Amino acid sequence: MTAPATGEVVGSVPMLDAAAVRVLVERARAAQPAWAALSPRARGRLLLRLRDHLALRAEEVADLSCRETGKLPAEALLSDVLTTCDLARWYARRAPAVLRRRRIPAGWLVNKRCYEVREPYGVVGVIGPWNFPVLNTMRAALAALAAGNAVVLKPSEAAPLSALLMEELAQEAGWPPDLLLVATGDGSTGAALIEAGVDKLSFTGSVATGRAVARMAAERLIPVTLELGGKDPMLVLAGADLDRAARAAVAGAFWNAGQICTSVERVYVEESAYHKFLERVLREVAGLVVGPASDPASDVGALTTEAQLERLDRHIADAVSRGARLLAGGHRLPGPGRFFAPTVLADVDHSMDVMREETFGPLLPVMRVRDAEQALRLANDCAFGLGSSIFGPTGQAMGLVSKLRAGMTCVNDALINAGVPGLPFGGTGESGYGRVYGDEGLREMSRTRAVLVSRIGWKFELPSYPLRRWGRTRALALVELLHGPGLLSRLRGLRRLVSRAPAGTSGVE
Ligand code: NAD
Repeated sequence: MTAPATGEVVGSVPMLDAAAVRVLVERARAAQPAWAALSPRARGRLLLRLRDHLALRAEEVADLSCRETGKLPAEALLSDVLTTCDLARWYARRAPAVLRRRRIPAGWLVNKRCYEVREPYGVVGVIGPWNFPVLNTMRAALAALAAGNAVVLKPSEAAPLSALLMEELAQEAGWPPDLLLVATGDGSTGAALIEAGVDKLSFTGSVATGRAVARMAAERLIPVTLELGGKDPMLVLAGADLDRAARAAVAGAFWNAGQICTSVERVYVEESAYHKFLERVLREVAGLVVGPASDPASDVGALTTEAQLERLDRHIADAVSRGARLLAGGHRLPGPGRFFAPTVLADVDHSMDVMREETFGPLLPVMRVRDAEQALRLANDCAFGLGSSIFGPTGQAMGLVSKLRAGMTCVNDALINAGVPGLPFGGTGESGYGRVYGDEGLREMSRTRAVLVSRIGWKFELPSYPLRRWGRTRALALVELLHGPGLLSRLRGLRRLVSRAPAGTSGVE
């Protein structure tokens, strides 16, 4: 593997075949029961120890993430390190409450006690992307571990070293062996992980791979969480703070060189604000410095894979050929690394690929719209539904939130919801289903068992024979007692139930 920013060799990892993956899953399966037997609080303490070690070795972890992906130190430290630490703490602290046994009312079955119990799945397979090689694998892995599962993690072949470092940190933090195992390799290793009989799968990656993974999981009836691509819209209303909106659009589009699933990938600006917004965007973009992690002045890093550069070229050429105006960038920068100039396109429309397909690169297309209504319609004219943002007067913006087709919405901000560990993260439509982060992320990694306990000593058994003791009339009387409209009807039900009871019973037997 070579570093995207310098072309230097970063390292190499083994490519595990199906047999090797099966061995990892078996080892994880053997380790899991003892881990599940610990209380959530005890597991949480180990998560916090891992957090401590991650914080202690923050620079090393961030440097490796930078070398593997081409990102910049602040991006790695704030996302891969800080947010992963935040998530470890959230899961550790919340797991006891979220996973605790809950008493459920038994309704009219008065001699029963009912509980909802959350149990781990067993071995969870986590398949991850390269863009944040620590955060976007550990956000699911840590939730799975907090919930009592063991994890086999298949990192992206483009950035596998960070996952191996996390495995090392878990050992250093004193975790039992085999709880977090890493299976390096490409898509075939990922497929082997699904085939190896994991009990639950969390996949983060592209829509195309997500579909293939979902098909494989469906064949084996394995529950899946799918965190897929995005094409996040930003709506800029006439009354927005345009300085703030422009800064957020630029940071949202170019942070991590645009390689974030919730990057701002298209902006719709109300007519009266369009030119002023564009002016501010261009001013911001003019100040951006593109360069490697080794240069402290760099604002925008390298693109991790060659495929990203090709997609950028294609989207820009398509848009320009259909009438878009190229206002900044639009071209690759001299090597040795894979750098691309931050690009702004204006006068775009929905006939262009750039407004419908995920770009996943440093490209900001801006479209003029008549009003908020049209912005909303166009924002929803897309198969994805991951994040979104609205800039404008808070009341007006809040009124639009539920009308946007998205799993996440920021009002007068963008991207930063991913920095809040308690906010569920995930999408709708082709952006996938299921959630990481938050209490929902913990529930996602555990299944519910329903438990009913009969209190002995009560002569009240259902179902029981002979059925004629119930008959139609008594059953109807019970329905009337419990659900008859109005008090009178209920009292009538009670009278019928009691009056037809054979002597010596409580009415229902
Ligand atoms: P990808 O789909 O190419 O690869 C993702 C992972 O799947 C890799 O580990 C890969 O080896 C593995 N894989 C490939 N084929 C497989 C198969 N047949 N069976 C099992 N596993 C297989 O995605 P990528 O290029 O690594 O990541 C970029 C994509 O990820 C973008 O679309 C981006 O939007 C998305 N993403 C989504 C989120 C989110 O939270 N929704 C976060 C980050 C990235």
